[in-house]
Amino acid sequence: MFAPGRVNLIGEHTDYNEGFVLPLATEMGITMEAVLRSDELIRLKAVDLGKEFSLSLSELNPGDGKQWWNYPAGVFWAFLEEGYQVKGADLVFSGDIPIGSGLSSSAALEVATAAAIAKLNRLEVDAIKLALLSQKAENRYVGVQCGIMDQFASALAISGHAVFIDCRSLDHEHIPLNLSGQVLAIIDSRVNRSLSGTEYNRRREECREALNLINQKMGQKKSSLRDVSCIEIENARSFLPDVLYRRSRFVVEENQRVIETVKAFQSGDLSKVGQLMIDSHTGLSDLYEVSCRELDLLAETAWSTPGVWGARMTGAGFGGCVIALVERTEFPKLKSRILESAVDGLEQAPHFYVTEPAAGCRVKVLE
Ligand code: ADP
Ligand code: MG
Repeated sequence: MFAPGRVNLIGEHTDYNEGFVLPLATEMGITMEAVLRSDELIRLKAVDLGKEFSLSLSELNPGDGKQWWNYPAGVFWAFLEEGYQVKGADLVFSGDIPIGSGLSSSAALEVATAAAIAKLNRLEVDAIKLALLSQKAENRYVGVQCGIMDQFASALAISGHAVFIDCRSLDHEHIPLNLSGQVLAIIDSRVNRSLSGTEYNRRREECREALNLINQKMGQKKSSLRDVSCIEIENARSFLPDVLYRRSRFVVEENQRVIETVKAFQSGDLSKVGQLMIDSHTGLSDLYEVSCRELDLLAETAWSTPGVWGARMTGAGFGGCVIALVERTEFPKLKSRILESAVDGLEQAPHFYVTEPAAGCRVKVLE
């Protein structure tokens, strides 16, 4: 079993506003060997951590917390919760996604587990359902309120494509990126993301407040910022507190940018894609205020490097990664420029990864 991590090309902080996102699966992922048991025992072995953990299906306890075993255990719980008949299993797994850097090692672990459970128990579960069961595990069992993007990309991406997801309807479309000589460079700032939890919750709250005010003052009943237009945001500027105006303007513009990025890929216009990535970063930094000095420095260094079409912070912010669309031959130059010129402004030397858009979860049956 192999399930990839994911990186979001564009569409940040739009998922909880019922908007659009455009992630792709990474070549990095979690590889899992799975064997069905005839009893109720779940035996887990995390090779990378050098740790093992066992529990019975009858001991599953939602809300148990963020310990590593709860990500796979939560998926067993989600299957049972939805009425599937499943037996215990031995799962041994390891991966090459940096853990906790915003590239969704957690979703990869969940999706690999979900696919393993379905395969071992001969259940007919499609990729969307695998993603939903995985998200349920993370939301309800681990207790992390993530959207559906991560699990969706890990479960159903197609090689060479990004997944354009409507986070309201869960409609999705595979968008061919037609990259010929280009790759996606992922630069992990390795900044401690301790701020990200509280600030993330605050942004969600600010979006809700902005929407409430817009509905109240404009006599409307919109259910999310997804339904607000750029003109309406400008009209709302007179009554929205400045912070709420800037937050909601970012969300409305970012949704628009996702749609424009899809079109730009379809017409092969990489300079347009690059500009949209730059605009997205600028909005995240100035209007949404979820970037940080290190992410700005990495993005700006990338922008000024020949062969880079565009770059932006990716993920919730306050640390995590920058993604750059770069000519494959120019990637070494980008790396050395960052290591030479930007590194003085960083606490730790960043880590670099390169990926092409990879396929979602794959099952290999060993005889
Ligand atoms: P991200 O998904 O951005 O990498 P999260 O904090 O959401 O970060 O998830 C990381 C958690 O997922 C880890 O703390 C660990 O509990 C679990 N995890 C991910 N990859 C592995 C792995 N290879 N082995 C064991 N646990 C893992
Ligand atoms: Mg995660």
